Amino acid sequence: MKVDDFGQYSEGHPIGQEIHDLIREMYPICRSITGEGVRRTLDIVERWIPLRRHEVPSGTRVFDWEVPREWNIRDAFVADASGRRLIDFRAQNLHVVSYSLPVDRMMSRAELEPHLYTMPDRPDWIPYRTSYYDEGWGFCLAHRDLQKLGDGPFHVRIDSELAPGSLTYAECVVPGTTQGQAIVFAHSCHPSMANDSLSGVAIAAALARELLRGRPRLTWRFIFAPATIGSITWLSRNEELTGSVQAGLVLGPLGDAGDLTYKRSRRGNSVTDRAALQVLRGLQASPHIEAFEPYGYDERQFCSPGFNLPVGRFTRSANGKYPQYHTSADDLSLVLPDKLRDSFAAIGTTMAAIDFNRTFVNLSPKGEPQLGKRGLYGAIGGGSPERLQYAMLWVLNLADGTNDVVEMAERSSLDLQLICRAAELLEQSGLLKAV
Ligand code: ZN
Repeated sequence: MKVDDFGQYSEGHPIGQEIHDLIREMYPICRSITGEGVRRTLDIVERWIPLRRHEVPSGTRVFDWEVPREWNIRDAFVADASGRRLIDFRAQNLHVVSYSLPVDRMMSRAELEPHLYTMPDRPDWIPYRTSYYDEGWGFCLAHRDLQKLGDGPFHVRIDSELAPGSLTYAECVVPGTTQGQAIVFAHSCHPSMANDSLSGVAIAAALARELLRGRPRLTWRFIFAPATIGSITWLSRNEELTGSVQAGLVLGPLGDAGDLTYKRSRRGNSVTDRAALQVLRGLQASPHIEAFEPYGYDERQFCSPGFNLPVGRFTRSANGKYPQYHTSADDLSLVLPDKLRDSFAAIGTTMAAIDFNRTFVNLSPKGEPQLGKRGLYGAIGGGSPERLQYAMLWVLNLADGTNDVVEMAERSSLDLQLICRAAELLEQSGLLKAV
């Protein structure tokens, strides 16, 4: 993986459509934090990349939490007395509150109503609701349809099962040449919504496929797991490994039209944070960078004080920051191939820079070394030979054993990709040595 490898994923490249097609394939499946929907989703991801699957039994203690019972659902509806389905899970899986207990009986409107959820301010949208940790059941529907529901009696049926089973997560491990680890986490637990969380899953799969074409320096672990309980479970089973995690990214919604945004790790100045800032600086006049807060996606777990890992987060419009968030309007039309492609390229560039990043010393530090006799004049990369030349001068000057490559990009205000390319050429020519 080289930093400029991701330069090819610019306008016109079909990767965005490919990622969109993958989202489309996963979209109809009813996922939750456990159950068959997750396994079927991983089956689809596995056609792109090899996965190591893990099944963690219900009841397993994971830090302060416990792996819940497994939830599966076959069918659900609210029907009128003649059997006509008024709310139908088969038409839209968001209709059922995730983790709903089984129900099968006739009831009046008064009995049913406390179990119905709508969005009066968005009367055509179906909200997304869960009841993972408090036992109950419910239906979600468009407010407009609630008004047409009638007085009942209703046949209410949820053909679900909540029983001891397991929590499923998967990893794609891309082995590196060193012991250092890096992680990429995408939550795989949402039912039919495209931006949250399938865009993250699909982009993680595409990035893993890209990395598998070469041999990175760090060992990259792509983790597909349910939000919160999944990252906590992974951490509890990989505690020993966390000591060698040098960088990490959580991938949230990445396909909508919002600006690509990076949220810093709790450390605030980790290599992940610094590399992401430099990549966004190359793309945006004023980079969209958010400070850490203990709210959001799974960075909350990776950045909990007992771990404090250098894990930041990439999103476009984040949780709660776009109107379609956690509703049926987060559909396939909200995720745009061009935005998916640009997210993929920027995150890939950040990962490649992290993978390349080291601290170098200039082995010929007294006066400028002669580039010409080493064939470095007129070398190509990052635009013009002059730009690359200029970047080499910066790298040689700052390679005093105290600055890493990302710091060289900060200090020189040159593109991180260009600085990486210059350092790579200088290392190959024997003028630089990593410390
Ligand atoms: Zn969500």
